[in-house]
Amino acid sequence: MPTIRNLWPYPVNFELTQLERQASRLGHLPGYCCVCGRATVFQIDTDLRERVPCLRCGSVNRQRQLATVLLEYAHTIAAPRRPLSIGDIAKETIIWNAETTRALHRRLSEHLGSNYLSSEFISADLSSGTVVDGVLHVDMQHTHFGDDSLDFILSSDVLEHVPNPILAFEESYRILKYGGCHIFTAPFYEHRFTNERRAVVNAEGQLTHLRRPWYHGDPIHEEGALVYNVFAPEVMCQLEHMGFEARLCRLRAPFRGMLGWNGIVMVARKVAEPSHKRDGVFPDDTDWVGEDASPGSGMALA
Ligand SMILES: [Zn+2]
Repeated sequence: MPTIRNLWPYPVNFELTQLERQASRLGHLPGYCCVCGRATVFQIDTDLRERVPCLRCGSVNRQRQLATVLLEYAHTIAAPRRPLSIGDIAKETIIWNAETTRALHRRLSEHLGSNYLSSEFISADLSSGTVVDGVLHVDMQHTHFGDDSLDFILSSDVLEHVPNPILAFEESYRILKYGGCHIFTAPFYEHRFTNERRAVVNAEGQLTHLRRPWYHGDPIHEEGALVYNVFAPEVMCQLEHMGFEARLCRLRAPFRGMLGWNGIVMVARKVAEPSHKRDGVFPDDTDWVGEDASPGSGMALA
């Protein structure tokens, strides 16, 4: 019998690599940190996604994943050279981060100054743009930012707590410049296509739990933050329908402090036309201007 290999669901290897196992036993691994831009030592304990702090700047795995993808796109914004760390990003880059604490926030804030905006979701009673005790409140579903005003939006495990993430993505599309990206992490199902709705809020603001309430630790709210949605590949389709070029990345590079199988980062890039690779098999629609093209355009049918 021939071997049947699944393209989907593709096999996810939940095992640690030999290097990761050895590093976990030792409790540390040397490497390079892209947040502080220095040779460092990563401290390793049980939680590979949420921990593995850089002993120089304190950044953790998930922040380095986000920063790594940010750096890959940041060179498109007038960077003097391909950025290796946050300190190399062009100073005119405008970034909004939906987080106001920890190492990546501190480094971006030091480097970009007033071109860096950071916020928290403080209360549903406030309108976006309100500052409370020096902290900017922004609801990702209805921000106060202008159209086409940002180069990057960063959100690290925030969107699962947003009741209607589609509204948030539409808002991202509105406020990003063309070529700009919303780069985000969130819990992600690799074994199913569809997103999971765990709770919904109706037009009257009434909350209904569809699954057992699941709360994440939250620096701002003591009771924790409710998880409304867990994304799956369906979110990539939703992003493309909105006009984004969507990308799903896995980040796993031990000597860059990114360990474990679940380093998933998603990118929604606002482009005029998603750039799917053409390979001679699928139709090339590059010059297609539509059937109502004016005569003389070279496209009129005989
Ligand atoms: Zn560091």
